[in-house]
Amino acid sequence: MRGPLDAENWWNSLVESDRALLLYHSGVPEFQVVAVNFSRRLFSGLPDIAKDVVGRTYELNKQGGVYWFGVTVSFNCPLCGKDSLEKAAIGSPTGNPQEINSFILHQKIFCQHCNQLSPKGTDLHADVHQGTYEELKTLGYLMPAPGE
Ligand SMILES: [Zn+2]
Repeated sequence: MRGPLDAENWWNSLVESDRALLLYHSGVPEFQVVAVNFSRRLFSGLPDIAKDVVGRTYELNKQGGVYWFGVTVSFNCPLCGKDSLEKAAIGSPTGNPQEINSFILHQKIFCQHCNQLSPKGTDLHADVHQGTYEELKTLGYLMPAPGE
């Protein structure tokens, strides 16, 4: 039997950035503002309204309603001078690459060489393209914990 417990386990298994993205695209404005803060919490720490969103998103995911994007974030690191490149796949209930792009550019991005947070004002470039989970995996994107 599937129920709230499945949604809870699923939420707890997601990496923080996926939780943030799912809340950001929940359609609930409050969550979009605080998506990153909420994303740090495990299911039990979420307000009830957030649990509802998680439950709905879980159902969407089961039905294949989650869109997958391969995201490549690159920038020249002002701290170590090297070019940082990061490839990761993210799942989202929105199918709009532009939204993903602007979300990514507002995230904290760490240099892949020196592991330092890119300073404010660093010129970040995000390349976003849509694909299936399997396609993105084959293309070498870092995949989050698989959903169902
Ligand atoms: Zn660096």
